[in-house]
Amino acid sequence: MPELPEVETVVQGLSLAVTGHSLSAITFHRDKIREEIPTQLFRELFEGQPVLDIFRRGKYIILRTDLGFGLIHLGMSGVLAVESKALPLPRHTHFTADIDSTSERLRFTDPRRFGRLGAVKNLNDSIWLSSLGVEPLIQKNLAGYLGKMAKNRKVPIKNFIMDSKILVGVGNIYASESLFDAGISPLRSANSLIKIEWLRLSRSIQSILKKAIKAGGTTLKDYRTSGGEMGYFVNELSVYGKKEPCMKCFHPIMQMRQSGRSTWFCSVCQK
Ligand SMILES: [Zn+2]
Repeated sequence: MPELPEVETVVQGLSLAVTGHSLSAITFHRDKIREEIPTQLFRELFEGQPVLDIFRRGKYIILRTDLGFGLIHLGMSGVLAVESKALPLPRHTHFTADIDSTSERLRFTDPRRFGRLGAVKNLNDSIWLSSLGVEPLIQKNLAGYLGKMAKNRKVPIKNFIMDSKILVGVGNIYASESLFDAGISPLRSANSLIKIEWLRLSRSIQSILKKAIKAGGTTLKDYRTSGGEMGYFVNELSVYGKKEPCMKCFHPIMQMRQSGRSTWFCSVCQK
């Protein structure tokens, strides 16, 4: 599943290919993915309008024109690609639009249909965005914020940092990696962390996300970056999906189910 670094990588790729161009021949191959697509409004806001900006909020990719915003969430298996108009459309393509004055098109494909396509005149109108927590790479004093939010929260720390109402963009991979880097067990309750641990964890989250963005994200199974090439952070994972012993202490890495997801950790290094 694409997480924050993957989405950021897609945004950077799209930015180069689409910003300054307008979209035409906007085509919705279905009018519903996980939810109804506001096809009419999307066309109104985008047909013939130059795309002024492309940015990310949480895991939403946001395109801006003078008239409003288009929102795209990749869900579990969504791919937003820029490619030659001449290529045949793959199965499960839900949306295409030509990028004016180029030979390319924008294509959204999502076999598992957990993705979303939306349009709003003002960002404040979006109920998808209104419930999102803070951005881990932008929030000032992230440690202080997390510590405050965790008061009286007995949920496991891993679930806590993956809660997008608190912190956006930290999914299973980066939560596992950050907790390993910070030496904190994913099983601890959120309210048991002390100040120095919040500081360590916040620094780990930020440095791992930054490293992953630089590497172009982590490619897993059906995820591709916008240009079609693979991400490279998968080579730098320390615990997630690891069958090898811990790289710090050589103890076997433990794998367990936690709230329906796989968790990997080292019971020696993570307390
Ligand atoms: Zn270890």
